[in-house]
Amino acid sequence: MASRPSEKSPLNRSMIERTLASVWHPCTQMKTHETFPPLPIARGEGAWLIDADGHRYLDGISSWWVNLFGHSNPTINAALRDQLERLEHVILAGFTHEPVVALSERLGALTDNLLGHCFYASDGSSAVEIALKMSMRYWRNIGQPDKIRFVTVSGGYHGETLGALSVSDVALFRDAYAPLLRESSTVPSPDWRDARQEESTTDCAARAAQALEQHLDTHAAQTAAVIVEPLVQCANRMAMHDPVYLRLVRAACDRHSVHMIADEIAVGFGRTGSFFAHQGAGVAPDLMTLSKGITGGYLPLSVVLCRNDIYQAFYADEITHGFLHSHSYTGNALACSAALAVLDIFERDDVLAANCERARKILEAAQVFNEHPDVSHLRQTGMITAFDVDTDDPLFSRRYHLAALEEGLLLRPISNTVYFMPPYVLSDGDIEHMVNGAWRALRETVA
Ligand SMILES: *Cc1c(COP(=O)(O)O)cnc(C)c1O
Repeated sequence: MASRPSEKSPLNRSMIERTLASVWHPCTQMKTHETFPPLPIARGEGAWLIDADGHRYLDGISSWWVNLFGHSNPTINAALRDQLERLEHVILAGFTHEPVVALSERLGALTDNLLGHCFYASDGSSAVEIALKMSMRYWRNIGQPDKIRFVTVSGGYHGETLGALSVSDVALFRDAYAPLLRESSTVPSPDWRDARQEESTTDCAARAAQALEQHLDTHAAQTAAVIVEPLVQCANRMAMHDPVYLRLVRAACDRHSVHMIADEIAVGFGRTGSFFAHQGAGVAPDLMTLSKGITGGYLPLSVVLCRNDIYQAFYADEITHGFLHSHSYTGNALACSAALAVLDIFERDDVLAANCERARKILEAAQVFNEHPDVSHLRQTGMITAFDVDTDDPLFSRRYHLAALEEGLLLRPISNTVYFMPPYVLSDGDIEHMVNGAWRALRETVA
């Protein structure tokens, strides 16, 4: 394997040495860095990442799905500078400030005030923990203490803290910590790749929803909530489903008095085409978790939005009736102002409409992958485009990732699924670079 451009540079080599002597990387067997060292990035510019020697890499995965409007975005930079001069952070217990109020008002308004209260944390997993706790305590507060169980969808991913991992269905992560996890129930995924012969994507979604219905028929009295990733289960190799699934889940939850938690940590903020993914199905959840894109990829922030009746069930004289949960950085003013700048950009640039056109161009260019004999299931939901590669190579993902870097492109397949999840600033030229680079990387990787 040829060394990466970055490894030839003395500056980058010293950075790699210092990194390996001091940093423990996420989701990584550190020993693999002996052969594949991490790539030092010096700066970012729009959709591009640039190393110390000036090599440029198009960020095709939005830096793990968080970046929306490019790196070093002038609007977000200015908002942060402005906020920095006033207030960086204040304790949110007993205190309040303009950015957290404005952000809560605007997020609520974006749900037509169906989800009228915002509870903040700093990362997606914590938001999932909060939603689970909120649901369980709601039922207890209204006199149904038996409703303590959760239902999750096969292949679902909701984060890696213990509570979030308990409702995640990723064998690699679950098995590692199995003795620490609570049991949850798993129902089939509506992933349309699992459609049986003669079955439409709608039939496939209806079959999955039927299984949930059956589960709730017997277990609703012990079940607090069903947690779903609307439209795309991103970590489940970009499993996409028919929106009808969400309508059927909503109906099943209503029928059985069970909360529907929409985990929009990856799919919120326009990723699937509508502002929130559930809106693409015309239903509203009882609780929604948001993070990743919320600050445009700038600062850690997450939030749980809940229906007003859930909020009201905690509103009482006794402190024990309240929602007992807190994080030190809750409602961080800098993070909230970055999020406000993100919402400003959505309004100012009519981003959803522009993305519609951008997604159309990506899918059009990506048709080339259909010509490859080993490619199947080319698919797209909004600004997520993916295809599966027929390969037995357990190292496919890493080999593809390295081949793409050689093409000046950051892609990171999940197992045998190659996907594009770029920031919403891709130009026509960037789209061409992304698809052509991905095509060459495929030819390089699959003999
Ligand atoms: C990333 C993700 C999480 C976890 O968020 P972290 O910030 O990584 O803790 C939860 N749910 C979904 C759907 C995600 O994509």
